[in-house]
Amino acid sequence: MKAVYLTGHGGNDVVAIGERPQPERRAGEVLVRLHAATLNRVDLYMRDSGAGITHTLPQVMGIDGAGVVEAVDEGQGLSVGQRVLLYPGVTCGECEFCVRGQEVLCTTIKLIGEHRDGTFAEYITVPTRNAIPVPEGWSFEEAAALGVNHLTAWRMLVTQARLQAGETVLVFGIGGGVSLAGLQLAKVMGARVIVTSREPDKCARALALGADAAICSSTHDVVKEVMRLTGKRGVDVVFENVGAVVWDSALKSAVRGGRIVTCGATSGDQPGADLRRVFIRQLQIFGSTLGNLAELQDLVRFCAQHNLRPLIDQVFSMDQAHAALDRLASGQQFGKVALRMA
Ligand SMILES: [Zn+2]
Repeated sequence: MKAVYLTGHGGNDVVAIGERPQPERRAGEVLVRLHAATLNRVDLYMRDSGAGITHTLPQVMGIDGAGVVEAVDEGQGLSVGQRVLLYPGVTCGECEFCVRGQEVLCTTIKLIGEHRDGTFAEYITVPTRNAIPVPEGWSFEEAAALGVNHLTAWRMLVTQARLQAGETVLVFGIGGGVSLAGLQLAKVMGARVIVTSREPDKCARALALGADAAICSSTHDVVKEVMRLTGKRGVDVVFENVGAVVWDSALKSAVRGGRIVTCGATSGDQPGADLRRVFIRQLQIFGSTLGNLAELQDLVRFCAQHNLRPLIDQVFSMDQAHAALDRLASGQQFGKVALRMA
């Protein structure tokens, strides 16, 4: 089968586009003919280093995906030809975290595209429970984006920050997939959403998408603007995946007792902690990554109910995988960069 796979680490030179053996389905698994996947920051991390993530080369890239069931056991609730999206975590089902439904914390979790072959390929096999029916009318690109990107934002807002209608959320770095998902979800949940970006164009696009206010951080002081927009109060929830360069602003933008959720550190992961501010203002800081299968099922229902679709920036073919990775690395995208297999 055709696939985009890693032969080493460091830049696009190690990203090969060519033939890999088609995976063989075992009992309890579903074979999916993939139609689309989207790119995530971790794809760049796997390409450039992969340090700390146990994997064997060559390995097919890609951690989210959607396609059509090609083969599955009978009586598993899926049928051949059905459109499905993938939950990326293959978990043990037995450890203390799996037992209490927090499988995203599973001690032996294996993520497709990180610890095992991923979705930038024509076929993949995963445990049957990892395949979820796609809502009616969705494109494969939109469906693929839910499994990692929107799931991450969902867990951040719903499970960790417990966002309530009427609260104010500050979303840093609008334009990236998770930030846009945060904006979309928070708006449907009835929150007031303030976004930031260094680029005026992205601020304008976020306002058109429903953001209540947008702060251009290349020309304005984010904390000052947040205080002006909130009557000197600060926001209830800070939604953050930029990391070091905005961390200080994140702490200073939160209301007393406010919640800060982080799922990434693109700009660096060792900012000053300002512990005095954290305890005096009784801030709550949540780390979050991905989500549980049950959360993905809730998310799919929520998105179908509210017709909330992920934004797709640009679609590339597998042959254009290098250009797709470059597009993500550039930071110029607004929405998800996608690969189409078929
Ligand atoms: Zn487990």
